[in-house]
Amino acid sequence: MKRTIFFKIFLGCFLIIFTLTALILFFSFRAIRSHYRETLRTDLVRLGNALNLMVARQVSAGQLQQLDAWAKSFGARIQTRITVIDRNGIVLADSEEDPARMENHGTRPEVAQALVGEVGSSVRYSTTVQAEMLYVALPLDVYGEPLGVLRVSLFLRDTDLLLNRLRTEMIRVAAIVLVCSLLATALFARSFAKPIRLLKKASAKVASGDFTSRVILDNRDELRDLADSFNEMTEKMSASFEELSHRKEELDSIISSLQEGLILVTKQGRITLCNESFLRMVGNQDVIGRPYWGIIRGQQFHRWIDDIIEDKSSFKRELELGGSTYLCSAAFIKARRSIVVIFHDITRMRSLDKIKRDFVVNVSHELRTPLTAIKGFAETLEEVDERNRSYLDVITRHTDRLINIVDDLLLLSELEEKSIALETEEVELKPLVQNLLRMFEQRLKEKGLYARVETKGLLPAFRADPYRLEQLFINLIDNAIKYTEKGGITIFLQQKKDRMIIEIRDTGIGIPEKHLPRIFERFYVMDKSRSRKFGGTGLGLSIVKHIVLLHNGTISVHSEPNMGTSFTVSLPHLPSTPPA
Ligand code: ADP
Repeated sequence: MKRTIFFKIFLGCFLIIFTLTALILFFSFRAIRSHYRETLRTDLVRLGNALNLMVARQVSAGQLQQLDAWAKSFGARIQTRITVIDRNGIVLADSEEDPARMENHGTRPEVAQALVGEVGSSVRYSTTVQAEMLYVALPLDVYGEPLGVLRVSLFLRDTDLLLNRLRTEMIRVAAIVLVCSLLATALFARSFAKPIRLLKKASAKVASGDFTSRVILDNRDELRDLADSFNEMTEKMSASFEELSHRKEELDSIISSLQEGLILVTKQGRITLCNESFLRMVGNQDVIGRPYWGIIRGQQFHRWIDDIIEDKSSFKRELELGGSTYLCSAAFIKARRSIVVIFHDITRMRSLDKIKRDFVVNVSHELRTPLTAIKGFAETLEEVDERNRSYLDVITRHTDRLINIVDDLLLLSELEEKSIALETEEVELKPLVQNLLRMFEQRLKEKGLYARVETKGLLPAFRADPYRLEQLFINLIDNAIKYTEKGGITIFLQQKKDRMIIEIRDTGIGIPEKHLPRIFERFYVMDKSRSRKFGGTGLGLSIVKHIVLLHNGTISVHSEPNMGTSFTVSLPHLPSTPPA
């Protein structure tokens, strides 16, 4: 059963007051009674002392009968029992009984005490008169000679009656005090419990979402502080709640107005939120509460989501869904233990890309044949026409450049084709690089540059597409030679954990920092005249970047003008089967 604060305070106070009253009653009654008996005892001692001489004389005179008669009449008059006992405990006279019929009293505790010369006293039940009595016994002597004992005693019946009446009176007073204090306690408990009840009611309202409830107290104590803090807290909660709902509304409208499809998936795979664009994407079917695999089919997407749940990471990949292409970005939200996935429709972009690529490929193909023909005729003419050789030389150089551009464009288009597959095999990197360097021997010699291959640690064979790797090295080494006037090129190879690190360093002109972020863009050249002079197309680094991406690797560049440039390629070990 639930106990209210009122009940607890009331019960606690009741128990304390009741116990205290009972204890006070008990001990004060005991003190009164013992004080009363002590007074009686003193009175009896005085009485005994007063009678002592007279009784002693009669005993020593042997007037025992007169003594007994005197005891009976005097005892009745003062309502006190008087007993005279000789030194052997034999009762000589008694105000209540015939002494001849009374047993030996020498062993009675008060008598035994008086027989050894002390004032003896005790409270006992008397077998002679069959009642509880207070006895006082005094030694009886004449001129120092012990004669026996004079015992005076009182019936406690009357005093007990008096004490009982006193006790009843005391209990009555205590009961009145108890009732009054209980009433006061009830009032106090009520006044203490009331603010708590109000606070309880108000917090219940707040819990049910009503932030308007306030607690106003008249108290001037901690409860008032508590109520004030409660009111302040409710006000703040109300403000935060309002702001939160406002933010939620804002977020809801942003999400629903997004052109991109958006879903929130729990770790268990259930969709808990989606926007209208996503519903349109999946044909307006019911999705909330359903597992995502029932809506978005395809092993690939499920694998990505499984990976993201395991690694608590994010991804950005292209996904083919219902004849459309989506750029799918997903991230794990730790706070909600869910995954947010955004589907950006890039079908149109991809088809435009394809048109562009097809156009480039077609134009490049169409241009290549006439360019080769022009180059062939110009070279032939150069041999026969001495006079125009300088003009023909210009024609040949420009035709060469155009052929280079066409070749690079064709290669780039091929690399950009998504369906391109790598033909991987175990590649020994060092011999591959050393072989390639032979192609550049002539140019290196002309420019007086050195070319070194350095390795660190073991360099095991690793899986890659050797043909693409050659294209990558050719472009990077070609650039390094092109843009280096003194010093040389170092190709550094190292296996680091499960990755192959390739670094191509030169001591050339370097690249100013502002150009670094753009050098991998197609046709981006830093210095057009210089690039043109060396037959550059501005496509070399784009080709390199595509080859690196096809191998799931990364490329970075570090350069300082007039100090040199270093390109670092990091390639993972590819699985035996070519990636899709
Ligand atoms: P290009 O055919 O003009 O060399 P790339 O795509 O290969 O085109 O390179 C883009 C630009 O990056 C170049 O024009 C050049 O300015 C700069 N670059 C590339 N490699 C180096 C290098 N090793 N040293 C200095 N500049 C470089």
